[in-house]
Amino acid sequence: EAKAQGAESIRFFNPAMQESINRRMLIESALRRAVKNNELELYMQPQVNEDREVIAGELLLRWTDPDLGVISPVEFIPVAESSGLIVPLGSWVIEQACSILQQWQAHDALKHIPLAVNISPRQFRHSHFVTHIERCLQAMQIPPGLLELEITEGLLIDNIDITVKRLVRLGELGVRFSLDDFGTGYASLAYLKKLPLYQLKIDQSFVRDMLTDVNDEVITTTILGLGKNLNLSVIAEGVETQAQLEHLRGLGCHKFQGYLFGRPQPISYWQSRLEQSKILPEDASA
Ligand code: C2E
Ligand code: MG
Ligand code: MG
Ligand code: MG
Repeated sequence: EAKAQGAESIRFFNPAMQESINRRMLIESALRRAVKNNELELYMQPQVNEDREVIAGELLLRWTDPDLGVISPVEFIPVAESSGLIVPLGSWVIEQACSILQQWQAHDALKHIPLAVNISPRQFRHSHFVTHIERCLQAMQIPPGLLELEITEGLLIDNIDITVKRLVRLGELGVRFSLDDFGTGYASLAYLKKLPLYQLKIDQSFVRDMLTDVNDEVITTTILGLGKNLNLSVIAEGVETQAQLEHLRGLGCHKFQGYLFGRPQPISYWQSRLEQSKILPEDASA
């Protein structure tokens, strides 16, 4: 039996796997350097209401390595998470968010727009997470209600008591929480009541296929119903077409994010757009 297992692991450890390990190591060392040299950038994507008025922005990391080129967060965030680099990187993102919010306090058109930051489980579990946020908000005099943290169901798998404690503590400060990619993760509905959540984000995979796959429509409808019954705001992610928008509105969804309204762009781009108007025109996706 031991022999069979040995053969199994040899077969399992194939060249393709070696390649993906190499790529991961490459990314990790490049990312370590990039974090140290401050080479990552934050983009923003608007979130809108039914009048196409911008009601918040989500900050999204962007990284172009001089040798490897553009690397998607879908690839480097898991590496940052497994290597621990997410801790300094995530702290930097929070500091940037607070610094943008602070600058926006001087602009009437911008000062009421909250910014959402994605938080990885490992970052959240770090012992200094809560105090770091407290300090940033205090040092930069940010109304805490303007900082939103997007967490995922992955955070709720273990240490639920500590997680709830931390969420409550930040929630008491005024920080708001959205549950990102909702419906794709470890779903126990029981915890939803326990968490001081503000919002559910319907994962883009459901929105994408909602018009053709009845299962995705049912899930979307269910999430909207949950939000209503639990008194949580609900936002749909990944809205790309007018047809999806109309369908979502028909189901009672009032908040949207997606290429239909605007792509993630440098903060400066959205800042000057929003100073002109908070209502995004129909062709904003261009
Ligand atoms: P997410 O938080 O669910 O962010 C939404 C993703 O969907 C973003 O991908 C965004 O560019 C993309 N998106 C927005 N609208 C549309 C649309 O209409 N169609 C399609 N197909 N996609 C759309 P992005 O920027 O590549 O980020 C991927 C993921 O990486 C994020 O998913 C988030 O989980 C993670 N991430 C990005 N920035 C950070 C960060 O600062 N910290 C952490 N921990 N994770 C981050
Ligand atoms: Mg997000
Ligand atoms: Mg998401
Ligand atoms: Mg995602």
